[in-house]
Amino acid sequence: MNPVRNIVIVGGGTAGWMAASYLERQLAHLRPSITVVESSTIGTVGVGEATVPAIRDFFAAVGLSDAEVLRETEGTIKYGIRFDGWKEPGHRFFHPFGLYGVPARGVAFHQYWLKLRQAGDATPLAAYSLATQLAEHGRFLQPAQNPTNDLGVFDFAVHFDASRFAALLRRRAVAAGVRHVDARIDRVERDPESGHVAAVLLEDGRRIEGELWIDCSGFRSLLLGEALQVPYVDWRHWLPVDRGIAIPCCPRDAAPEPFTIAIARSAGWQWRIPLRHRIGNGHVYCSDFLDDTSAEAMLMEGLEGEPLGQPNRLRFTTGHRARFWDRNVIGLGLASGFLEPLESTSISLIQTGLERLVRFFPDAGFDPRLATAYNYQSVLEFERLRDFLLLHYWENGRSGEPFWDHMRAIVPPEGLQLKLDTWRASGEFVRREWETFQDPSWLSLYAGFDDLPDRPSPLADRFSNAELTDTFTRMRAAIAGTVAQAEPHAAFLARVAGEGEAARRATVS
Ligand code: FAD
Repeated sequence: MNPVRNIVIVGGGTAGWMAASYLERQLAHLRPSITVVESSTIGTVGVGEATVPAIRDFFAAVGLSDAEVLRETEGTIKYGIRFDGWKEPGHRFFHPFGLYGVPARGVAFHQYWLKLRQAGDATPLAAYSLATQLAEHGRFLQPAQNPTNDLGVFDFAVHFDASRFAALLRRRAVAAGVRHVDARIDRVERDPESGHVAAVLLEDGRRIEGELWIDCSGFRSLLLGEALQVPYVDWRHWLPVDRGIAIPCCPRDAAPEPFTIAIARSAGWQWRIPLRHRIGNGHVYCSDFLDDTSAEAMLMEGLEGEPLGQPNRLRFTTGHRARFWDRNVIGLGLASGFLEPLESTSISLIQTGLERLVRFFPDAGFDPRLATAYNYQSVLEFERLRDFLLLHYWENGRSGEPFWDHMRAIVPPEGLQLKLDTWRASGEFVRREWETFQDPSWLSLYAGFDDLPDRPSPLADRFSNAELTDTFTRMRAAIAGTVAQAEPHAAFLARVAGEGEAARRATVS
């Protein structure tokens, strides 16, 4: 064993400080030195406010409680995403973090739901999702550790102020011994024999050496892209949205909704992310169909409160570096690739990248088989997400709008077509490895777009319509009862903030 002793992280955005915090904790027994080099003059991308539930595993892994994060980042709860206008203007559906209904005799709930629907019952699938009902009623409930049945299976993520989150991680990582260097990197030195990155030269003349490098330098991809020349796999032909404009505004009232809203616009979509101190707004769109000035005007016209600051314009290309790990460099965050933020997955990809890195952690010999395995899994994970995102566009019913017509006509990757064909023929799901979003998420989209199978599974005939109607009524009543007992979201946030303040006062006195 020749352990890696010296890890250098390039970049101090969300990715850089997540990497520093996680590696400091998970590799503590190996006692590596960890340095973060970032330039405050360059700054960070400054967006990334919505997450998926797995983020809470990350909080736990770095020793943070959900309450602490919510307090420190002006955070709120997220039970899922409401999609407005994606099927057609005026239409809405919800993608929750949780299950629908209860299966019976080995048959999935949705098959019974399809059967009743075919018999004329128009109750939406959302009525059988506790997460959706909590979201719609603005309530908070902590998921039970061992729910008595599937009706109680749901989860939550958070919305947070990304700069405050990075600052929180930085404070804790630095206190735990991570070295923080604030300087601009001018040059990258490579070992002439191995081609490995050996050192970076800073604009102030300092030279920082490292054995293992984590590239978190943002879209510039200083090490992986620029120094190692790892090519970029461009997915614009599948996901052509390539521009973003973000601007926060004052909140409308003190009761933020516990969900993200994604509103379809003429050439893309707009997000609305409620935090406690502001609302995050952004418009992402395709530059082939909409110019920047019009896109910004559309965003600003619809703001519901006073804008806070100036609009932040961003450009991106959906895709990823052909290798996420090359030689002694692992890319994380925007330096490794980008999928548009429709399902808030970028931060979760940083997290899974870190978990994978710790599993495949190399010694100083850098066995290339580790990088091969890491890259194989990372590419699959990106491809699975790409397909899930594409489904949102591909299913749209906004006929007569050039961007949306274009999106419906896209020839999907093979795996996605198979998934959809299987669903339409049987109401069954094709599961693939490394899928971030599981069957219930796909179901929420299919049902949301009203893309339902020609017939329910014959197995659903195990119960008569009368029996199903009776059971379904009881399920809805159980959900309604649980929602009624849950705490209002705003009261929960105030309680969390109050507990922090009480703890602070107790410490001071
Ligand atoms: P950055 O924040 O860009 O950080 C790069 C770092 O590298 C900075 O510290 C910079 O100073 C440093 N650096 C660069 N060059 C040098 C140099 N030469 N010398 C020294 N330091 C250098 N993700 C989600 O999960 N949810 C969302 O809702 C979401 N919304 C998004 C919306 C948009 C429009 C975009 C574009 C992204 C969104 N993301 C979202 C993605 C999310 O913002 C990023 O994944 C996250 O912020 C991580 O960024 P990063 O740390 O990789 O890069």
